[in-house]
Amino acid sequence: MNFKYMHPKDEIIEIIHRIYENGMTTTSGGNLSILDEDGSIWITPKGVDKGALTVEDIVCVLPDGRVNGIHEPSSEYPFHLAIYRSRNDIKAIVHAHPPALVSFAITRRIPDTRIIPKARELCGRVGYANYALPGSEKLGEVIAEKFSAGHDTVLLENHGIVTVGAGLLQAFQRLETLDLCARVTLKANSIGTVRVLSEDELELSRQTVTLDEFEPQGHSSKENEIRKKMITLVRRSYAQKLVTSMEGTFSARIDADCFLITPIGMDRKYLTEEDLVVIKNGKQEAGKHPSSSVTLHKEIYAKNSAINSIVIAQPPNILAFGVCDAAFDTRTIPESYLVLREIQKFPFGMEFGKGGDDYPAIADMVSDTMPVVICRNNCIIVTGNSLLQSFDRLEVAEFTARSIIDSKAIGSVVPIGAAEIDELEKAFNL
Ligand code: 13P
Ligand code: ZN
Repeated sequence: MNFKYMHPKDEIIEIIHRIYENGMTTTSGGNLSILDEDGSIWITPKGVDKGALTVEDIVCVLPDGRVNGIHEPSSEYPFHLAIYRSRNDIKAIVHAHPPALVSFAITRRIPDTRIIPKARELCGRVGYANYALPGSEKLGEVIAEKFSAGHDTVLLENHGIVTVGAGLLQAFQRLETLDLCARVTLKANSIGTVRVLSEDELELSRQTVTLDEFEPQGHSSKENEIRKKMITLVRRSYAQKLVTSMEGTFSARIDADCFLITPIGMDRKYLTEEDLVVIKNGKQEAGKHPSSSVTLHKEIYAKNSAINSIVIAQPPNILAFGVCDAAFDTRTIPESYLVLREIQKFPFGMEFGKGGDDYPAIADMVSDTMPVVICRNNCIIVTGNSLLQSFDRLEVAEFTARSIIDSKAIGSVVPIGAAEIDELEKAFNL
């Protein structure tokens, strides 16, 4: 989906549905707008079902204040206008009341985007606007003041969140990422003490990799079959909230020196077979841009001939373990131990490397006996002998993390005992 060629009304419909499907807004809550080149503002209507909006419902407020459309503009039009007037780089606004961010808004705390690398880069530090009456000029003033100060995301005290962007997709991605930070922080606090990244660590994660290119001489049936399988699983992962629109990398081996990997910076929801990038003998398919973790994938494949697929992701429950000091014990149910074996957490930074001397040390840690590892304050790395096996391991890891976290509300986890683990290992030839 290319937003560049879409009408603002269509963009708004696409994104409001995505927000609603992601459970980040209710029927009555939230509003979205886009500032058009002529100064008109396209905005969602006041009080119309956010779960069933169509392009006909979108309202246009002209620069002279006249309104085109079958409904009244959102009751929060005053704050949208005040934000656009506060900074001329802002072209789109998203407002919603996602439960996790509301938990912060009602406890009057600001979510910290330094728990994971890209969140800080995308969302920046979160601003905080004091409470004011919804729909009032006053609310517009307090919010616009925060955006003038340079924030791109502002938490509204006892109300919700506002994010902005150069386009609606960017404003949405800021909302999605901030909501992930909020969900992860809430979960992590129930199992341990949260750690945030230092400025040096944040800098370290800003790596770019440039590989030499090669011109592919056709695409084999095996490669195209893998492309299809990978896209199906990427989409499934997005639907299951195991990856977000911007984060989540899949790769699969084609042969000894060749693998397929997802591209950098493309929306996971709309990824297609042709977006995937072939890496052959350390070179990338001409004209394409592989994930920034491509070196790590290359090293893991080079070291482990039995590994045929790798997934790197940031599912919320696993990430909760990743950002705090709690150990992740997989001895919860037989499935978890059999599928995942033991999961260890490694210090932040071991996953980065541009190749050569700058080597991603975590590549030496994964193996048949440790197929899944957590990189602190960043991600989970899941390996498998097939795409389906690594996807299953990702799902099982996220389910396991979730049951452990949710169990805190009712008691302490009693892990499967050592004798029973022995018995499992024997029975399943681990
Ligand atoms: P509208 O339906 O008028 O846009 O209001 C929703 C909302 O979130 C108010 O703050
Ligand atoms: Zn609101």
